[in-house]
Amino acid sequence: YKTLRLILGDQLNPSHSWFKSKEDDVLYLIAELKQETNYVKHHVQKLCAFFNAMENFATALKSAGFNVLHLTLDDTHEDKHLPALLNRVAKEYNCSCIEYLYPDEFRLKSQLADFEKSSEINVSAYDSEHFLLPFSEIKDRFKKDKHVTMEHFYRAMRKRYDLLMEDDKPAGGKWNYDCNNRNKFSKQDLKSIPEPKLFKNDVSHILARLKKHNIAYFGEIKEGKLEWSTSRKQAKESLEYFCEHLLVNFGKFQDAMTDQSKDNTSLYHSRLSFALNTKLLHPLYVIKRVISEFEQRPDEISLSQVEGFTRQILGWREYVRAVYWVNMPDYATKNQLKANNKLPQYFWDGNTKMNCLSHSLKQSLDTAYAHHIQRLMIIGNFCLLSGINPNEVDNWYLGVYIDAIEWVEMPNTRGMSQFADDGIIATKPYAASGNYVNKMSDYCKNCQYDVKQKVGDKACPLNSLYWRFMQTHREKLEKNPRIGMVYRNWDKQSDELREDTLNQATHYINNIESL
Ligand code: FAD
Ligand code: SF4
Repeated sequence: YKTLRLILGDQLNPSHSWFKSKEDDVLYLIAELKQETNYVKHHVQKLCAFFNAMENFATALKSAGFNVLHLTLDDTHEDKHLPALLNRVAKEYNCSCIEYLYPDEFRLKSQLADFEKSSEINVSAYDSEHFLLPFSEIKDRFKKDKHVTMEHFYRAMRKRYDLLMEDDKPAGGKWNYDCNNRNKFSKQDLKSIPEPKLFKNDVSHILARLKKHNIAYFGEIKEGKLEWSTSRKQAKESLEYFCEHLLVNFGKFQDAMTDQSKDNTSLYHSRLSFALNTKLLHPLYVIKRVISEFEQRPDEISLSQVEGFTRQILGWREYVRAVYWVNMPDYATKNQLKANNKLPQYFWDGNTKMNCLSHSLKQSLDTAYAHHIQRLMIIGNFCLLSGINPNEVDNWYLGVYIDAIEWVEMPNTRGMSQFADDGIIATKPYAASGNYVNKMSDYCKNCQYDVKQKVGDKACPLNSLYWRFMQTHREKLEKNPRIGMVYRNWDKQSDELREDTLNQATHYINNIESL
């Protein structure tokens, strides 16, 4: 073969221009590699989902007539790292040039750029043709260490792609319908949540390989059957299912949480993040499909559901990627609140008396999934209030979630949820007391703690931890006009109550493992 073309595990983009024509002298390489399994400790479902999706993509390419070399850990366990593998395969197949697609992670991008510089054979890189904001434009719209308002960016993207627009005005007259999206589930609502779309992909052969090669992981896969979509066909089925059954209430219950829906962890969410992040689905394809469903069923589906969904993908997803690239590698070390506590042990088994946290952790550990508000306002909020070191928080999120790839995980975790990035993403911390959890979920009803109490044995830990957090960072946060009111409420309380609250928080922090 003349050319070796590398396809990484999150570059399974069937519409890429590489696949527009077949050339006999091109060999595509898709390889399981130890270096991709151990940069953090991963959930086994994440490892199996990536390897299974790579396997399916290799099979699909082969049956479409492309030359594909699909290597498993059995074939690559002696290759120290990706460059070593590329050199070996290029030599073995007599390739005179190597081509790759720009990786989306800093770690891999640097590794391949170094390889390109030092390689004796000709190496070239191409765009992955997935994102809606071209990489070359990131630096024009975003600046290192500077906050860009997501809403402005999102509006520009709506105009650019002419999505939900009526001429140059937003459809329905408003850009953002978030205020319609703040409902909690009633008992009646809970009865009518549709089943999630789950698959039964047999990954027992991958599990056996992980064991054979001593790959460290956590979590389980029940009966060796993976529930995530790992092929383009399945990803499209998930999208169709979302359009047919879930979109109608997506926005309405976007922030709602419950522990009463045991087998349904994703509620009205789409479960599309893995398919999007591996590039099995293109973001524009997903958005347009959702808008077309709205156009076909205008009486059932409201604009606010569709606008909310579009904003997540066209807005947030593209925005966090830009923030990542413009700020890396410094972003990975940001810790503006100097949070240095250790992640408690219950992050690995969910055994805490706090029901909100226990439910969200157990669900994450069981299914490699939590929806946005569980990630942000339950798990993230707890870490923020308890001052957990953002490196530990990042590593946990990067390991546990099915869709966690650093470019999207890190800005969301370190930035949005931990406020560790000097306010590059969020203009104020997403900090909340038990009151918020009680408003948006039914967690507090089944909790050993009392959400109404700040002080005492039964007091909800989030209440005092919230005030401790606000006090600790008062100097920094008080200047923010959106937070000033909070301090006025605090100052109105009696000295005794304030002191007791802070003492309670100190007690909880000192005994964080037994919360
Ligand atoms: P839905 O609720 O159905 O949303 C549809 C799609 O919108 C998602 O599939 C996703 O592609 C996109 N989206 C929504 N919110 C965001 C966001 N804030 N940033 C980027 N894309 C978004 N998402 C990841 O893909 N990988 C991560 O590692 C990740 N880590 C997160 C960590 C924290 C602390 C927080 C608060 C959020 C994180 N998110 C991450 C964003 C979001 O929570 C997930 O994309 C979403 O929960 C995936 O489930 P879904 O496909 O059912 O999403
Ligand atoms: Fe969480 Fe506090 Fe409610 Fe318990 S009482 S579920 S700890 S918010």
